[in-house]
Amino acid sequence: MSEVAFIALGANLGDRPANLAAARAALSMVAGVELLAASSVEETIPLGSLVQAPYLNQMLAVATTLDPLMLLARLQRIERQLGRVRTQRWSARTIDLDIVRFGERSVQSPALVLPHPGLPHRDFWQREVEELEQLLEAAA
Ligand code: ATP
Ligand code: CA
Ligand code: CA
Repeated sequence: MSEVAFIALGANLGDRPANLAAARAALSMVAGVELLAASSVEETIPLGSLVQAPYLNQMLAVATTLDPLMLLARLQRIERQLGRVRTQRWSARTIDLDIVRFGERSVQSPALVLPHPGLPHRDFWQREVEELEQLLEAAA
């Protein structure tokens, strides 16, 4: 059975549009993941108190047969492939891939929280979710 997941992309180092494109391409190559729709790209100022460059953000809707933890592991592998170095939370990165929603699932584990707890606080994510829902509805 496949479920619809929403994945947030964020890039604030290097060639940001190229990093988003590389993440989309890598994701489309993952077995058990099919790209359904992509939101528009939006620039945002970074969260937290670290001084860093603005982010380019985008959200993707995918259909997946993977379970949430497997999807997270695939996303983390793509982050590593694209040269992300894990330092502090909210520090600069070539690419950040977060699972915003996974079907109607609610998960509370140390490795994975669903829906992503940032969703209620991030206006740009809410706009992107809405945009994706409209795109999915139009395609249905
Ligand atoms: P935020 O999650 O607030 O946007 P961040 O993306 O900068 O911050 P990271 O350093 O990328 O945080 O991730 C920290 C940990 O969050 C990861 O190791 C991962 O296990 C965990 N995590 C929990 N829920 C999720 C989720 N829904 N999507 C992605 N990672 C998650
Ligand atoms: Ca994040
Ligand atoms: Ca993350």
